[in-house]
Amino acid sequence: MNVAEGGVGPGFIEIAGLTFRYPGADVLAISGVDLMVQKGEFSCIVGPSGCGKSTLLTILSGLAAPEAGTVTIEGHEIYKDGRRTAEELPRCGYMFQDARLLPWRTVRDNLTIALKAADVPEERWDDTVADLLRMLRIEAFADSWPLNLSGGQRHRVAIARALAIEPAFILMDEPFSTLDEVTARFLRTELLEVWQRTGTTIVFVTHSIREAVFLGDTINLMTKGPGMVFDVRRIDADRPRAYEDPSLAEIEGSIVGTVLEAWGYYEQPTARPGDSTG
Ligand code: ADP
Repeated sequence: MNVAEGGVGPGFIEIAGLTFRYPGADVLAISGVDLMVQKGEFSCIVGPSGCGKSTLLTILSGLAAPEAGTVTIEGHEIYKDGRRTAEELPRCGYMFQDARLLPWRTVRDNLTIALKAADVPEERWDDTVADLLRMLRIEAFADSWPLNLSGGQRHRVAIARALAIEPAFILMDEPFSTLDEVTARFLRTELLEVWQRTGTTIVFVTHSIREAVFLGDTINLMTKGPGMVFDVRRIDADRPRAYEDPSLAEIEGSIVGTVLEAWGYYEQPTARPGDSTG
């Protein structure tokens, strides 16, 4: 069910009380995160730098076990109170700030390597790659080397690769933050088209409130680190959305107002030794 088309499904990803500390670290990286993502939803996570957004995605991808808390995906418990309780994790696509393509392999090979690694049957590779290249408008670059592509084209390949492995959901960690704003706007629109066409579930991390309001069905607002989700906003604005839409600007303004205190903008600087008090 695609939330963008008006449906609301059951909790697809359910996270409760998730806490994580990096080995040897004095302080927690995240502290008691609760999060609910519905099937087919475009769910954004917004928080200040260092609050634990990437850490949360790392745990969701199965790369790190939390110290405490529960993660359930599609009704299957994955982690409970620091223990991994499922042998196999649902397959997820992952997209990072940089496209992370293999530079010595063509675009087509970058996709087939991902298909092979994900055990997608070989007879499906050609059709899957052709469909994705068409969907992401990069057919002309199938046999190009990544280094000969623009930043935007490389990101299109990375989106195609995340979709290629037939993931249960896709995690995106600030995927457009290194692109110029015009290219990023094109790619956001294309990502939304692909998302609506495929009905996939996306968890999208960003520190940009504007980007989250443009993209998301829901926005989970995190506190500063060690972070937890302190507010969830549902964005019911019609799609396709326009950056100039005053109702989106209003939502953005309201979220900025909410996070000012949570992110510590009203805090007084701490007095340092030697500061004059008189
Ligand atoms: P965000 O993605 O919101 O910027 P991160 O998840 O990267 O935040 O980091 C959360 C906290 O964990 C930060 O305090 C960061 O310094 C710390 N951290 C991140 N990665 C590591 C690591 N590999 N080892 C130790 N601490 C880490």
